[in-house]
Amino acid sequence: MIKALRQDRDLSDEQFRALLETDAYDAELKAAAHAVRLEHYGTDVYLRGLIEFTNYCKNNCLYCGIRRGNQKIRRYRLSEDEILGCCAEGYALGYRTFVLQGGEDPYFTDERICSIVSAIHSRYPDCAITLSIGERSHESYHAYFEAGAERYLLRHETADPVHYAKLHPSDMSCEHRQQCLFDLKHIGYQVGAGLMVGSPFQTTDCLIADLRFLQKLQPDMIGIGPFLSHKDTPFRDEPSGDLKLTLRLLGILRLMFPDVLLPATTALGTLHPLGREMGLQTGGNVVMPNLSPTAVREQYMLYDNKICTGEESAQCKGCLERRVESIGLHIVSSRGDAKCFRRSV
Ligand code: SF4
Repeated sequence: MIKALRQDRDLSDEQFRALLETDAYDAELKAAAHAVRLEHYGTDVYLRGLIEFTNYCKNNCLYCGIRRGNQKIRRYRLSEDEILGCCAEGYALGYRTFVLQGGEDPYFTDERICSIVSAIHSRYPDCAITLSIGERSHESYHAYFEAGAERYLLRHETADPVHYAKLHPSDMSCEHRQQCLFDLKHIGYQVGAGLMVGSPFQTTDCLIADLRFLQKLQPDMIGIGPFLSHKDTPFRDEPSGDLKLTLRLLGILRLMFPDVLLPATTALGTLHPLGREMGLQTGGNVVMPNLSPTAVREQYMLYDNKICTGEESAQCKGCLERRVESIGLHIVSSRGDAKCFRRSV
């Protein structure tokens, strides 16, 4: 099955089920995924400097620590100057991609987002700007693209509409989220989709639906990490996602999409002290250290016990460099574009 997956980049649903539901093939899958990442990306690991610029959100996703209904967190927004300060620090440290991530915060109108994006773009024309600010209209996405944003991360969360409805309130829909991803692709963004492994009510069928959706979307990046609960959400007592299954999915995705960007996520590093190293050894090729000011990092808790909230940006980068080198891979200072990216317009 693993040879067939590597060669054909596809399996039948029943074969995917067999692969997903046992750990019998994990060692072989890991070796194949690593070989494919070496063929397509060598030992390179790309850095994304993450700037969490607002923890306000108008939505109430049941799994999320910054959901609207959580009254216990202190809300913050970074000013344009503070965001530019994070970029200046990141640029000096060698970052060539900035990821602006936040909840769906109406304060950040299209005008404000465009102003921030153009300011970063004019100061750092050699850097890629990624937005991760949720569902917006086609017109808004187009305006940000014109201002200089080239990439957009929007996890699809789950491709199964029934499962989606169990994770989100009724004013959000699976169909709209997927439409946003296709809009972004059509505009010309490099697009990142993704999901949490082990989210409540997830079944193997849900995961197979996710793989089929990703085949249809053909994203440039796929962000997957384990589900981790947050104490102030309705899912506070739900168990964490499984490390082995998360790694298994990373391996499967590397074989299905040899040129895609696959982050070894902070959630994986939170689940296990060597989670990110394991992710990078199972096909991962991106890490996303935090560039947000340390004063606000504790407030951007999507799940409990998130790592790397106390370190300065330079410490974060140094720590990750050591971790990546320890497994024979190397962080490179470049934009790190996806090799699969073809602008569709
Ligand atoms: S997952 Fe995103 S959209 Fe949902 S509540 Fe959290 S920040 Fe808001």
